[in-house]
Amino acid sequence: MAKEFKRKDGRKPTELRKIVAKVGVIPNADGSAMFAFGDTVAIAAVYGPRLLHPKHMEDPTKCILRVNYDLLPFSVHDRKKPGPSRRSQEISKVTEWALSPVVDLKSFPNTVIDVQIYIIQADAGTRTAGINAASMALAHAGIPMKNLVCSVAVGKLDKNLVVDLTKEEEDFEEGEGSTDFAIARIANTDEFTLLQFDGKVQPELINDLISLSDNACKEIYEAQKKALKEIIK
Ligand code: UDP
Repeated sequence: MAKEFKRKDGRKPTELRKIVAKVGVIPNADGSAMFAFGDTVAIAAVYGPRLLHPKHMEDPTKCILRVNYDLLPFSVHDRKKPGPSRRSQEISKVTEWALSPVVDLKSFPNTVIDVQIYIIQADAGTRTAGINAASMALAHAGIPMKNLVCSVAVGKLDKNLVVDLTKEEEDFEEGEGSTDFAIARIANTDEFTLLQFDGKVQPELINDLISLSDNACKEIYEAQKKALKEIIK
């Protein structure tokens, strides 16, 4: 039998980093949560639904979900320049799209729900940790949702398919190089709300890569549910 590929940090290909999930971390917010994959730590705060200003931006048919993602300057080794960037705007947008399908936006016309996501420590997978935290924070805020959203990055290190890549793994250049594929899906379903691919992969491996998110998302969902249940004891 072929020896199983071991990653530099000792994990098996399908093994996630240690998950820490907690809700209620920001008392002044309507809902809040933190979600960590190892050294990647995201916090999310939800405010609303509340009236939207300026009024011309209101949508009389539904609530607007407005996400702001930011990687804080001290979260990475080379201090990041504060403020928005093309990267943060893109991640904010894809996070909005990843979460919107589960939120009952039609029940709150003319309003906005603000979701603030801050990465306080980054070691790759920040958009996925941010989506997991935001999904929990929306539930914690009591906003009607049809389900939670679970997100994980999968990828390829040379020829090996792996889940939840570290920054070192994302930067892996040897052999066939690395592939980073951020996935979000509605918990316990085959409905995907984010498929964001970076790198190169043979087309015949795409389905195998996507399948790696099956068990990973189940594990993430259990951690999210456990954290939410802890506050309704
Ligand atoms: N990163 C960084 N500085 C930046 C942006 C990113 O050091 O300005 C690091 C950080 O560890 C991040 C990783 O690069 O998690 C990968 O970033 P990417 O844009 O691929 O998004 P992510 O994997 O975090 O969702």
